[in-house]
Amino acid sequence: MARPRSLLVSMQLTIAGRAHDCRFNSTHRIFKGERRLTIKDDGDEHHYCLACAKRFMERDTERLRVLLTSVVGEQQEGAASRDD
Ligand SMILES: [Zn+2]
Repeated sequence: MARPRSLLVSMQLTIAGRAHDCRFNSTHRIFKGERRLTIKDDGDEHHYCLACAKRFMERDTERLRVLLTSVVGEQQEGAASRDD
């Protein structure tokens, strides 16, 4: 059986090798040795501070939850109409 496809882009927590700005908000500074979220996009790596990472994840978790609720609802409607 094929492995389930992941819906999420490649992301991981990494440690900053040098200080740099957050990719989303340049007023957020990530200092050397700090953890950050690294997202790989088309071979490019983008780094975000943990405050931004938390917001992205919370927003996307909510989106996934809403979508999942819709998908489950559709499936139940489909099953109900097949019972007729
Ligand atoms: Zn940030």
